[in-house]
Amino acid sequence: MISKAREKKDRHEAVCKICNHPYRKQIEDRWCAWASTATLAEKYRVSLSSISRHMAAFKLQERRATNLRVAPELIIEQEDEVEQRAILKRLKKWNMKHMPNSKNIKRPKTNKRKKSD
Ligand SMILES: [Zn+2]
Repeated sequence: MISKAREKKDRHEAVCKICNHPYRKQIEDRWCAWASTATLAEKYRVSLSSISRHMAAFKLQERRATNLRVAPELIIEQEDEVEQRAILKRLKKWNMKHMPNSKNIKRPKTNKRKKSD
């Protein structure tokens, strides 16, 4: 017997414009990397709702959200200490203004050096 979830997925795949699109993987990857839904819809000639339904069906919003959390970390890691402090100061200021009840942002821990170095 086929499960209801499997049936629902099969039905989605049968009618979904993204599932059946030759550039499906590119659409998914670019959407997860925060390309705009409207831009992708225009470029790949599909509707906004097709993209939204497909991403929801495969729970790709979580992957997109994870990419958003990882991106600032990668940006900060690439900078030198002076720039890191400046970025974190600005983030902290933004955070205090817009999210006053959240925890303070701390500088990521790096390999500790002895003071004598
Ligand atoms: Zn789909």
